[in-house]
Amino acid sequence: MDLEAHIAPEAGMTPQPKPWIMAIHAYVPGKSAAADGRPLIKLSANENPLGTSPAALAARHAAPLPDVYPDPDAGALRRAIAAHHDLDADRIVCGTGSDELLNLAAQGFAGAGDEVLYVRHGFAVYDIAARRCGATPVVAPDRDYGTDVDALLGCVTPRTKVVFVANPNNPTGAWIGANDMRLLHAGLPRHVLLVIDQAYGEYLDAHDDDGGMALAHAHPNVLVTRTFSKIYGLAGERIGWATGAPEVVAVLNRIRGPFNVTSAGQAAAIAALGDTQFVRRSRDHNAVERARFVAAVENLAEQGLRAVPSKGNFVLVLFKGALQAETALQAIAEAGFAVRWLPQQGLPHALRITIGTAAHMDAIMAVLRHATDQAAGPQARSRDATLQQAEDSA
Ligand SMILES: *Cc1c(COP(=O)(O)O)cnc(C)c1O
Repeated sequence: MDLEAHIAPEAGMTPQPKPWIMAIHAYVPGKSAAADGRPLIKLSANENPLGTSPAALAARHAAPLPDVYPDPDAGALRRAIAAHHDLDADRIVCGTGSDELLNLAAQGFAGAGDEVLYVRHGFAVYDIAARRCGATPVVAPDRDYGTDVDALLGCVTPRTKVVFVANPNNPTGAWIGANDMRLLHAGLPRHVLLVIDQAYGEYLDAHDDDGGMALAHAHPNVLVTRTFSKIYGLAGERIGWATGAPEVVAVLNRIRGPFNVTSAGQAAAIAALGDTQFVRRSRDHNAVERARFVAAVENLAEQGLRAVPSKGNFVLVLFKGALQAETALQAIAEAGFAVRWLPQQGLPHALRITIGTAAHMDAIMAVLRHATDQAAGPQARSRDATLQQAEDSA
């Protein structure tokens, strides 16, 4: 047998990736360094500026050693979540970040020929989740950067299988209330799975609850996802969870990784749930600093800056005047901070800025004031020069 001929690749006979996989633009994570490699303070990934609960850190260190597999069902963690949120542990599934669960929801319920629907400027993972399973992503128009229930419902077709709504939404911070959420669910055909992504749910005031958990409890076609990455300060451990009808949870359990949450992650998350004081402190800090930052941005309204109203731990700032978002991004980087510019999400005129410490926010506000001045300066000067020329030639 001619072995050479047998193993020599013929033209075009290399492994061919699926075309729907090649249509994916890989997720772009928030930056932590400048173009020249200089480290930047990260206000680009919505992490908790207060760090992690000390109790969670201690539990992480006391977790079982890494030579044994973790609890495949994350039983203790699911029971802790159930107790904390007054849920049934059998209706909870944990994931390697809620990112895994969002992907599994799409994969479990949609495929080639199906449509996965979400709103414009929605969370970037939804497009990837749709394409990964061969489904077609469908993007509904937004209403002033927020979820427009009528527009979403208007995009539903017989092929729609999954609808994703981040509430509050990332990167815009926009949020819809319980009434809108109920109308959205009521307007969807029964066979459509509504995934309510509450990654920032812990930042909401109690009266801003969107009712997602109640919908997931009462209906067979609602899944709510949560994460330990944001207010709990455990982004590096990759722990998320979801709750829904037992049948929906069973689908995710079939296709998730069998040991998808680490021992250290499970232990840390249980302790983080118990440290209500850390969570309260994080929420309060965020509310105070977010309000202060939004007020500072509103002070630059005449210079064309606007803050999209946010219920998350970040603010989307729009740049409609002389100062462009990309220029502001550079000025902020020169001051030592990374924030998020999202031209690939239809937001070339905006920066998403995570709420950091008070000192971080002071620095960002100073940069924005200085940069708007700088941007107005040359333009004002050239306008003066044009006027002068006109006078001279008159
Ligand atoms: C940050 C975020 C997540 C959480 O991702 P993890 O995988 O849990 O870290 C999910 N949805 C939205 C909208 C987010 O902003």
